[in-house]
Amino acid sequence: MATGIVYRSTGSWYNVKDEQGKFWNARIKGVFKLDNITSTNPIAVGDLVEFETENENENSVIITKIHGRRNYINRQSPRMKHQHHIVASNLDQSILIATVKDPRTSQGFIDRFLVACEMYHVPAVLIFNKLDAYKDKDFEQLAIMQEMYEGIGYKVLPLSVKNKTGLEEVESLLKDKTSLISGHSGVGKSSFINTIIPGSKIKVKDVSNWSGKGQHTTTFAEMYDLPFGGKIIDTPGMREFGLVDVGRFELSGYFPEMRERLNDCQFNNCQHINEPGCAIKQAVIDGEITEDRYVSYYNILVSIPEQSWK
Ligand code: GDP
Ligand code: ZN
Repeated sequence: MATGIVYRSTGSWYNVKDEQGKFWNARIKGVFKLDNITSTNPIAVGDLVEFETENENENSVIITKIHGRRNYINRQSPRMKHQHHIVASNLDQSILIATVKDPRTSQGFIDRFLVACEMYHVPAVLIFNKLDAYKDKDFEQLAIMQEMYEGIGYKVLPLSVKNKTGLEEVESLLKDKTSLISGHSGVGKSSFINTIIPGSKIKVKDVSNWSGKGQHTTTFAEMYDLPFGGKIIDTPGMREFGLVDVGRFELSGYFPEMRERLNDCQFNNCQHINEPGCAIKQAVIDGEITEDRYVSYYNILVSIPEQSWK
């Protein structure tokens, strides 16, 4: 029996790296039960597993045990809204690569990402890429975003993969940690990974035929070792983490600037819309919570399906 970490999952096969650095093709037998969830695809990238060799002559092994997860992130299937699978586990941080232009990452998208990270108890970091292409108005936009997100406690790092501005700060953030990396198609995630891991050959899209739409190809998360220490997990084709499980009354608890004021609302089941004595709405009026973040809160709240109100 040996212990290893899952680097890649195809849904039926897993690539597991043992403590000596050797890779194995692993699979599971039958149905696994973990954390009271029974699943035929229970294994996630980042999982610590025990395995046994199946056939000495081959690289194939059987996973016999999954160690408890420190945390994990779920993904929602783009087609089947109620089908989830675990994307990655045992994360130190979750990083969103965003851009102010070409393409612009919407604030709503960023806020949904942050809510998901809060829900899963994974520290979130925002990287804004393509700094080299920003004009004055883009830098103004970046400054607004940076002030807003740093003001509520998130780390924000500006970057240009193209001319390597800000790369050292990002590398020291990643060093010796396990980081999930996600982002809209076109933000430069593949270029970024190819830059920090020389020799890796993730396909970079040609902007000339980049449409920004229809990029729903379901591929699987994959973990890479960083040459300077640490690991990153790439999530190709992943648009958004699953937010279907968020409850109506718990949502404001995933906005740090709201969380610290919830006890001041008159009603303890306040949804911060029309209720009297609402501390959140008052904080928006007083300019202590930005209107933009409140709008994101509202938009997520009304998007929660009725059956998951709790
Ligand atoms: P992904 O879809 O997020 O993996 O993005 P890619 O890495 O495929 O990059 C999409 C396009 O953005 C490519 O044409 C890259 O050359 C370009 N790109 C990536 N990083 C930068 C950057 O820092 N500055 C500029 N100007 N373009 C970049
Ligand atoms: Zn309230």
